[in-house]
Amino acid sequence: MEHIDWSNLSFGYMKTDYNVRCYYRDGKWGELEVSSSDTINIHMGATCLHYGQESFEGLKVFKGQDGKARVFRMDENAKRMQASSRGIRMPELPVEQFEEAVRKVVKLNERFIPPYESGAALYVRPIMLGLGAQVGVSPAKEYLFMIFVTPVGPYFKEGFKPTAMAILRGYDRAAPLGTGTIKVGGNYAASLAAGEKAHELGYSAVLYLDAKEKKYIDECGPANFFGIRGNSYITPLSSSILPSITNKSLMTLAESMGMTVERRQVAEDELATFQEAGACGTAAVISPIQRIDDLDENKSYVFSTDGKPGPISEKLYNKLRAIQYGDEADEFNWVKILD
Ligand SMILES: *Cc1c(COP(=O)(O)O)cnc(C)c1O
Repeated sequence: MEHIDWSNLSFGYMKTDYNVRCYYRDGKWGELEVSSSDTINIHMGATCLHYGQESFEGLKVFKGQDGKARVFRMDENAKRMQASSRGIRMPELPVEQFEEAVRKVVKLNERFIPPYESGAALYVRPIMLGLGAQVGVSPAKEYLFMIFVTPVGPYFKEGFKPTAMAILRGYDRAAPLGTGTIKVGGNYAASLAAGEKAHELGYSAVLYLDAKEKKYIDECGPANFFGIRGNSYITPLSSSILPSITNKSLMTLAESMGMTVERRQVAEDELATFQEAGACGTAAVISPIQRIDDLDENKSYVFSTDGKPGPISEKLYNKLRAIQYGDEADEFNWVKILD
């Protein structure tokens, strides 16, 4: 067995022992299969390749101090994948089957779950693909649902540090009534050019405005946005953002800490009134935002001048991580222990 350097994992792909697969044929889902190959063999006419009939999910498994593996809110990922299926006309996988597949693939790759001390986790990546020999634009008749796992390092290698983000008015991620609310690959393809531009300019990510009026905050590429003003946790309500499970969890935690949660349209101008701002998602939990530059309008909103995250962001981050790793009581029943 090869040695894994747990403390130097990146957010990249490492081959693990097994993945699990389940095909949808003749109107029903088949048995869960186990594979040790990290390639798939699909027809060149598959709808996922031509027309983007594909969805994915991302969740993590954490090893606690007690050595037990914990998965965070997988029922939410299962339900969100069903919503993605409805959105792009794929069959819905029952929640129980999704959870069974997660349990199975994690169990089979137990040796890849990073130890508690590393601060790393096992990333779980479910995907669903439209298959079949097809040229016409219509939903496929056959589908593949599969999950692979790969160990990933802590997102913040140099610690929990704020970064700068850019508003690039020349790009949209998702249309107001388009596919922004579901987790499909096409949204990501649509965000690559803007992401690359932001990186070239020295920013960690793009903060998207609503595509119609370019007035309200949408989200930060692959993560939701939140701001803190006084005792309020404020996060955008929009018809083109993906409902982040991390954001949903942070809203619950903020409320339980006695904060007021506001989920509503957030005009860009309001950024000037926030003491803290962050992006949230499974990969990093919270990425604190140091500064947001609206490059086309020559405006800048600064949230951190000392290179440190704000106190509320830090408190929320620590609390959620503590629940995920089993360091604190799971009072909301978010964690399932895998055995
Ligand atoms: C996955 C995703 C998020 C984060 O969702 P989590 O469930 O918190 O990981 C945010 N925005 C987009 C566009 C996403 O695809």
